[in-house]
Amino acid sequence: MLAILHPNTDENSDDYRTTFQFLEELQDIQLQTHVVQGEQQKLTEIYLVGDTKKLNIEDIASLPAVEKVIRISHEFRILGKHAPESPSLDFEYNGVRFNQDSFHLFAGLCAVDRKGNVEGMMKCLQQFGQQCTRMGAYKPRTNPYSFQGHGLDCLPYVFELAGKYGIRVIAMEVTHEKHLEEIDQTLEHCGRPTGVMLQVGTRNIQNFELLKNLGRQQDYPVLLKRGFGISLTESLNAAEYLASEGNTRVIFCLRGMKTSFNTPHRNMVDFAHVPVIKRMTRMPVCIDPSHSVGTRALSSDGIPDIFHATAQGLVAGANMVLVDFHPNPAEALVDGPQALTLDELPLFLEDVELIRETYLKRQQNFKAVPKFHA
Ligand code: PEP
Ligand code: MN
Repeated sequence: MLAILHPNTDENSDDYRTTFQFLEELQDIQLQTHVVQGEQQKLTEIYLVGDTKKLNIEDIASLPAVEKVIRISHEFRILGKHAPESPSLDFEYNGVRFNQDSFHLFAGLCAVDRKGNVEGMMKCLQQFGQQCTRMGAYKPRTNPYSFQGHGLDCLPYVFELAGKYGIRVIAMEVTHEKHLEEIDQTLEHCGRPTGVMLQVGTRNIQNFELLKNLGRQQDYPVLLKRGFGISLTESLNAAEYLASEGNTRVIFCLRGMKTSFNTPHRNMVDFAHVPVIKRMTRMPVCIDPSHSVGTRALSSDGIPDIFHATAQGLVAGANMVLVDFHPNPAEALVDGPQALTLDELPLFLEDVELIRETYLKRQQNFKAVPKFHA
């Protein structure tokens, strides 16, 4: 059961104290409190965990600090959207706000190869007003003999260059909890010139110990990529592992599914699931057109497949795009064939803006029709 308190309820108020006293005295019920600090208001949610069937919903609803009580299913207890009006997760990280209405582009290198390419990428992003990027330092590779990423060695110059070019958030995959320590210590050592969004890749989505570890800290948000060969329910349960340990700063990323029918694309593009995730959960939703499509191939209409796939996710309301770019894809040590080039960035940005505006316009059109009100 979930009790949502009135917005901006003060923890020192009598209403809060009376409410908490009552809840704490309930037999066999544990309380978990989550505070969602939005731009306009602070929302406090109290999860009542245990044998809640015997609880009377009216008794809880009549407590002075409680605005609303919702009976929730066992699945996706914290990240799930249990009522259409449940607020989306809403958090700010290093000056960048994330929720189910926001939009951010994370264009960058799949894998850091050399300093010159990191600098070329970041300089170009700054030139086009971008504050976020992707940079892989720890690469989970199918083949053990493939390049595994520069790891800790590249972190100091990646973070320093990010600071130099005004990059606020870098999406960076981690495959082991020790990578979190390395990132944290290097950032600290460099004077925190930038921020990191920890990425959990599709191959690690059911590494539950890694998820629990990343969930136990709230300093860094987590970008969780959908498992390419498991059910959506299993992927969302993996996200819930992060939240159940305390970290609700989670973004869910669609990146295509492995099927026997995806060829000639690398994976089957699953961006029709953007609105599904937004309906089922409170997480902002990211799309990764690069790892879905896997090729720079151009369609007969003159538009590359990666641009088309990006548009499909955006027109359906995606909140973030994670996309591979490279100053010289031939030099890339990972995923060169799917990297877009820097001269394509302005066109990509223009396309993204056009489709995002179209999505917002579509949303307005549907808002005007009562039968479509959620
Ligand atoms: C990546 O984004 O670099 C990556 C490896 O993606 P995925 O986990 O989706 O394969
Ligand atoms: Mn890649």
